[in-house]
Amino acid sequence: MQIGKNSVATIHYTLRNDNGDVIDSSDDREPLAYLHGHGNIVPGLERALEGKGAGDKLQVKVAAEEGYGTRDERLVQDVPRQAFPPDVDIVPGMQFHAQSNAGVHTVTVREVSGDSVKIDGNHPLAGEALNFDVTIDGVREATEEELTHGHVHGEGGHHH
Ligand code: ZN
Repeated sequence: MQIGKNSVATIHYTLRNDNGDVIDSSDDREPLAYLHGHGNIVPGLERALEGKGAGDKLQVKVAAEEGYGTRDERLVQDVPRQAFPPDVDIVPGMQFHAQSNAGVHTVTVREVSGDSVKIDGNHPLAGEALNFDVTIDGVREATEEELTHGHVHGEGGHHH
């Protein structure tokens, strides 16, 4: 069968930035299983996989707009050191999860100067083109339960 809305596709992938650095890869783990048509993966990749089947290999270049979005400099802010736990060493490059009205997102520490910490709320891959090498391992119909939850259960998916 082909990948389409409400199918579960299992894929091996390698993600590189435009410099050719590997950012993420399923090489050392089980392939990724995702529910197609539900925004579980970045929009540009989801669209490229539509209609493909098991055994297909593809290279997909996804622009930032179709990936993790463009950078928003308003999300770069200075916050007081006191906003962080005193027993944690705050260093540039450190990432943590923050809760906001828009949900949980990743915040990266950019700079620490005295009592001020510059944080960046952009996704670490915002503004980057994404270069995927994908091999499709399998395609199956989603179960009723998976459709209700909006994600894949079992191998390569959620365990709960
Ligand atoms: Zn679930």
